[in-house]
Amino acid sequence: MMHFCHSPSPDGNMACPCGSTRRYAVCCGPCLAGDLQPVTAEALMRSRYCAYVLGHEDYLLRTWHPSTRPARLDDSTGDAVRWLGLKILRTAEGGADDRCGTVTFVARYKVGGQAHRLSEISRFVREADGWFYIDGVIEPESRSGRR
Ligand SMILES: [Zn+2]
Repeated sequence: MMHFCHSPSPDGNMACPCGSTRRYAVCCGPCLAGDLQPVTAEALMRSRYCAYVLGHEDYLLRTWHPSTRPARLDDSTGDAVRWLGLKILRTAEGGADDRCGTVTFVARYKVGGQAHRLSEISRFVREADGWFYIDGVIEPESRSGRR
């Protein structure tokens, strides 16, 4: 997930961009607002996807593990990215009592009128103050077709 764009501020009644079918105000909204900590690696993954959709750069950096966190996000890709949807394929560990976990997901987005799929296995670690994103391995497109 390297693209980044700015969007208008969210309406709490809208369907959460993470695809959960819950309202933003009771799904990822409180996490992005800093009112709640994501309890699981998957919840952090979902809230970070929302942060990409909504342009919450500070949230993305805040939830990035200090050992791998960039100084700032690359916001210079030029073409605006339109995120179309997130699908969580698999999770391994990442529960409320685990120390680490992985989340495999597919994110669809459009840039310059062209649709893309990003399939990634992200690694997360839980510290005393919550879950953090470490890094991700992008799967080749050919391996991301199964459901
Ligand atoms: Zn959500």
